[in-house]
Amino acid sequence: MTTLDLRTFGNELLTEKNTSRMPALFIGHGSPMNAIEQNSYTKSLQKLGQSLEKPKAIMVVSAHWQTRGTFVHVSPAPKTIHDFGRFPKALFDVQYPANGSPEFAKMVSSQITSTKVLHDDEWVLDHGAWAVLKQMYPDANIPVFQLSLDFSKGPAYHYNLAKELNALRNKGLLIIGSGNIVHNQGMLDWNNPNAKGYDWAIEFDEKVKANLQSHNHAPLIDYAPFGKAVQLSIPTNEHYHPMLYAAALQQKNEELKLFYEEMQMGSISMRCFMVS
Ligand code: ZN
Repeated sequence: MTTLDLRTFGNELLTEKNTSRMPALFIGHGSPMNAIEQNSYTKSLQKLGQSLEKPKAIMVVSAHWQTRGTFVHVSPAPKTIHDFGRFPKALFDVQYPANGSPEFAKMVSSQITSTKVLHDDEWVLDHGAWAVLKQMYPDANIPVFQLSLDFSKGPAYHYNLAKELNALRNKGLLIIGSGNIVHNQGMLDWNNPNAKGYDWAIEFDEKVKANLQSHNHAPLIDYAPFGKAVQLSIPTNEHYHPMLYAAALQQKNEELKLFYEEMQMGSISMRCFMVS
């Protein structure tokens, strides 16, 4: 290591230590079973949780809380819900007893001016939030709340809404989009859990990756020209839209780190990334 390298290294450490600015994440969540399994994906989430500075609160934009209008949780103690069908009892036994954060949730609704963000005090934590957090922060000792996905809005709405949240990262809020870049349940290859992706799945996933890497977000928002690959990859877009929240939060001086990629059962992309 040269003197210059040493100096750079020292500055990086200093910056790291003195900032409370949080990264923004997109996590491909896949099967709820990832909450209780040990695999390369869940290990990467564990490592991530251990390596990040501890957030003051976490806000998850999950594919599984869709509403008309945009809502934010203000519950001080959200309940863990098991919003899925036939899975083993062990998964239904999982609880994620983190507190909510009405304070941060209200900051979110006042920060967003392009639309009125409504308060919801009844909603709970869905598996798009807790299955991921169970691996990242198993102690459930960081307050968590969710921002809903307005299903009546298109990708540009979600992308622009996310941009308004940037300042809250300086206050210690970790924003996580939780969905999947490729998500076609009808095409899942149940007989082959380790199936490599279908050609169209790989094509779309790679195109999204390339556009993320080049910070070329327009094609990620106006994705119809991807044609058949996008039609098959996101026949419905609720798992894709959470990705736009993390992408939109990348500032000019921030890096994109792709920290996990895998295709599961042919038609689910587990790709995850961080902007920081
Ligand atoms: Zn899901």
